[in-house]
Amino acid sequence: MDMQHDQLKQMPKVELHCHLDGSLSPGLMRAVLGRQVPDTELMVAPECRNLAEYLEKFSLPLSCMQTAEWLRLAGYDFIRSCAAENVCYAEVRFAPQFSRECGLSEAEVIQAVLDGLEQGRQEFGILYGVIVCAMRHLPEEENLAMLGAASEFLGKGVCAADLAGNEAAYPMADFMGLFEKVAAMGMPFTLHAGECGSAQNIRDAIAAGARRIGHGIAMRGDDGLQALCREREIGIELCPHSNLQTRAVASEAEYPLIEFLQAGVPVTVNTDNRTVSGCTLTDEYAFVQKQWGVTDAQLWQLTENAVRVSFADEKTKVRLMEKIRQAGMEAETI
Ligand SMILES: [Zn+2]
Repeated sequence: MDMQHDQLKQMPKVELHCHLDGSLSPGLMRAVLGRQVPDTELMVAPECRNLAEYLEKFSLPLSCMQTAEWLRLAGYDFIRSCAAENVCYAEVRFAPQFSRECGLSEAEVIQAVLDGLEQGRQEFGILYGVIVCAMRHLPEEENLAMLGAASEFLGKGVCAADLAGNEAAYPMADFMGLFEKVAAMGMPFTLHAGECGSAQNIRDAIAAGARRIGHGIAMRGDDGLQALCREREIGIELCPHSNLQTRAVASEAEYPLIEFLQAGVPVTVNTDNRTVSGCTLTDEYAFVQKQWGVTDAQLWQLTENAVRVSFADEKTKVRLMEKIRQAGMEAETI
């Protein structure tokens, strides 16, 4: 019999694609805003039509991420939510440029979030890495200035860069030069690509040197692109709830998780935005099990894939892999 919800919750899990702003807990937002916040303000509506509409839900949480204290609380809150469902390693991402309304520098924003994450690590033992997001709609100088500031934290909490925002309006081809410069900084990166139907964006992201692809849905049915990801060990960060909400696929039947698994692509399952999408990683695991018949063995495979393609250092990867394999063996003997 497949693992039940409480077993899925107990299972050590790895989260690679999660936005801090879209994952602030309702309790934290209530505390910061000093008022009740109805679900309709926090979560995407069922009638959401596309990614651009989905992204409209981020202004409220971003208003809660403008002081060093609130940012520290956001980092701590995130680790606490990971601990609550046994996520043992998490990469969390955000755009420091969006937290400067009260005059903080990008370095101060990053430091404040890291302080909260570190406090969480010490209390709950959850390991983490920060991915900083360049934004598609911002001028290149602004993105570069942020990435330059973030590169000072490489290996000290920051593990990689990303490119986020409205993919349909800003194709990957416009950012090749930017990521050439990021590569020159010695900063690895994952890039949002193929969330809005363009396989070319995935091809360009790989050509730019992306080690992972956020979503990558558009390489459904593209054997060549899938083979490239398999051969180069390029991780694919699927986020099932979010992908259905943003209409990255037209229907559940078209979702490519099983196709990618069978093609040997290093695919992973993630939440994207815990609050905006209204899900935990446990929920995602339960959902793929129910929706597409993902087996227990495949759930462990997805978790091991996540360790393998994570931006953690080799020593941490070995430790995480041991922990996951041990838990997998124990689960089998129950
Ligand atoms: Zn995302």
